[in-house]
Amino acid sequence: MKAPFSFINVCIFFSKRTLFDDFEKLRTANKADVYRKQRLQELGDLIQRRLEYLQNPTDCETAKKLFCSLTKSCGFACQMHHIVHCMISAYALGRTLVLKSDWSMYGAQSFETVFEPISRTCLVTPFKENITDWPAALEYMSRDNTIYLRSEENYSPQQPAFLPPAVPADMAQELSILHGNPSAWWIGQMFRFIFRLKPNLLEEVISRGEKAGFTNTIVGVHIRRTDKILTEAASHPVEEYMYHVKEYYDQVERTQPGISRRVYLATDEPEVLSEARKKYPTYTFINDFNSTRSATMTERNSRQSLHGVISDVYYLARCDYLVCTFSSNLCRIAYELMQTLHGDASGNFRSLDDNYYFHGHNAHGLTAVEAYRSNREGHIALKPGDVIYVAGNHWNGFSMGTNQRTSQKGLFPSYKVEDTVVAADMPIYPQVPL
Ligand code: GDP
Repeated sequence: MKAPFSFINVCIFFSKRTLFDDFEKLRTANKADVYRKQRLQELGDLIQRRLEYLQNPTDCETAKKLFCSLTKSCGFACQMHHIVHCMISAYALGRTLVLKSDWSMYGAQSFETVFEPISRTCLVTPFKENITDWPAALEYMSRDNTIYLRSEENYSPQQPAFLPPAVPADMAQELSILHGNPSAWWIGQMFRFIFRLKPNLLEEVISRGEKAGFTNTIVGVHIRRTDKILTEAASHPVEEYMYHVKEYYDQVERTQPGISRRVYLATDEPEVLSEARKKYPTYTFINDFNSTRSATMTERNSRQSLHGVISDVYYLARCDYLVCTFSSNLCRIAYELMQTLHGDASGNFRSLDDNYYFHGHNAHGLTAVEAYRSNREGHIALKPGDVIYVAGNHWNGFSMGTNQRTSQKGLFPSYKVEDTVVAADMPIYPQVPL
């Protein structure tokens, strides 16, 4: 007799949970996770020491510098990614990053109003020497003291190999063993250096978290609405986010029965909070009301709004799991910073739209590890070794992409391709102790 469909579903459901339990046992067997976390911390600390060295030359006048000016008119998280772009370029070129920012759109003078300056010894222009613009600067790299990178678009059409997803060659192999997403970890290390709050603001952020009642275990949910969904991304109902929150807690509940289901909810749409509370009474929603109020389109150009978004990024990164949309820069910063705080947290997320990416990255294909053939409409064939440029994840087990061998574009099972770590030669800063 055929088993009823619902019975089969229940079996699949339980075997999935059992499988995840086994993964967790494997991950933590022989305390391998403890070693990996510790080693990632050591490598991260080394990068921080290198940045500290690079950013504080004894003589700024003669030091080689990379000058970046924040001229992009975009939101906080987009601007922060631009700074990371500059920081990676500076590290890879062995040049001290000098940053000029005008954050008057946020009621703040500059980046340094809220964050520690990225250098103590090399402050903003005026420089006596001439500044050479990228890409002409490529020719004069060894000659000119200061080169100017206006924005990542400056790099086109010839992007340098050191841009994401590349990671420094001296760590690439080890990172590929220690971490599930070395590129996000490396970008996270740049944020760790940049995202150092001024003491007053740090105090304020900690007090916001205490008032809101932030404690782990907690799932971070970022619901991006307002201007984003008018132009750049789709709106997703609260139910879609909460489906994945429930999945997370149902899994955790197997080893921690009775765990309280807590959600840190960050959003630019204040009504979302009352909707979530009404629809999910068995969950506790933690939210920084001041931050949400100042995140709306009408309130955005204020210092209060800047503090609010910083506070939300700070706490989302400290959550144990993230449910958000990777189309949002804010969600991606939280994910990147998360990698510096929890060891390998590469799998601790669920994006409702895009795959993880870094704006302005180099094109990068995934490699097929198993053959795939299908008669289903819209599906493409794979052979082991094929390189696939992925255009999107359907989050149902299938991805969309173009096979470089056949030029066919279509769907294929996501598990049949794997990512390879891209290593780029960058200075190893021998002056900095290991
Ligand atoms: P993106 O547009 O989502 O990629 O991120 P941006 O940071 O570039 O721009 C969004 C802006 O909307 C932020 O800088 C905030 O001002 C505001 N915003 C969006 N979501 C939130 C949120 O969850 N909390 C707070 N405080 N502000 C938000």
